[in-house]
Amino acid sequence: MAKIIDGKPISLQIKDELKEKAAALKEQGISVTLAVIQVGNNPASTVYVNNKKKGCEYIGIGSLSYELPEETSEEELLSLIRELNERKDVNGILVQLPLPSHIDEDKVIKTIDPKKDVDGFHPQSVGALCIGQPGFVSCTPAGIIQLLKRSGIEIAGKECVILGRSNIVGKPMALLMLRENATVTVAHSRTKDIKEVTKRADILIVAIGKPKMITRDYVKDGAVVIDVGINRDENNKLCGDVDFQDVEPVCSAITPVPGGVGPMTIAMLLHNCMESVNIQK
Ligand code: NDP
Repeated sequence: MAKIIDGKPISLQIKDELKEKAAALKEQGISVTLAVIQVGNNPASTVYVNNKKKGCEYIGIGSLSYELPEETSEEELLSLIRELNERKDVNGILVQLPLPSHIDEDKVIKTIDPKKDVDGFHPQSVGALCIGQPGFVSCTPAGIIQLLKRSGIEIAGKECVILGRSNIVGKPMALLMLRENATVTVAHSRTKDIKEVTKRADILIVAIGKPKMITRDYVKDGAVVIDVGINRDENNKLCGDVDFQDVEPVCSAITPVPGGVGPMTIAMLLHNCMESVNIQK
């Protein structure tokens, strides 16, 4: 039987640590505030944004909420970001993605001051991660490192295969696993023989957005399997990119969906908000 890596208690542990740090900062007269911007009312985004605000409340930091209408122009959004960049009482700026199609996401990400880029998406943050300098790290991959470490899973020297190469998950994940001294392979939709590659993995991290695509024939016996995917199955139930029922009997540890990687993303966003105080020093 595989160990089920439960993200809920691990994320709670991190949030409780952050709560203590926030209280200690408050005693020194330092308050931390996250500004969250949502454009339009995509229901999934509203859920994510509310969870982020609740997370801030839980650890005892402030949040400012900007709910802008769908028809907000790119310039209006950029000027709000510039204003928040200047504000001394705002430590982190988060723009919930995806944005309406008339707004250029790249431009928005680049406009956020890298010192307030708590999502870790700014090219400067990604560059810093690449060359091992301090900076904000994208929350989902950072959360996966915490899941592995706090579950007692050794990373150094392991063969790690990452399936998916997006800018927000796959690529930063590869850089972080490299930083942790794993031997890293990144596979994607143009990889020739995916099964041959994934079967080499001691640690397999899947972020492709394809419901239950990864069955046991992609997995080496005893591997650790981390499922980043959040999808809906044929019954509209939440599911991952990994076929949990099929893979669980052959692996040594696995994350469920929901309740695995998902809760870690918000915990690491809150971690980045607290980290912003050091980065802004
Ligand atoms: P993207 O769509 O940006 O990237 C998907 C990646 O998977 C691409 O690199 C693509 O390859 C690759 N891919 C797609 N299909 C295949 C295939 N059949 N075989 C091999 N590789 C394939 O997705 P994201 O990285 O943003 O997200 C991935 C999943 O993770 C989604 O389900 C998303 O909802 C979830 N997610 C969950 C988060 C959480 O907090 N738990 C946070 C972020 C995302 P190519 O580059 O060649 O096109």
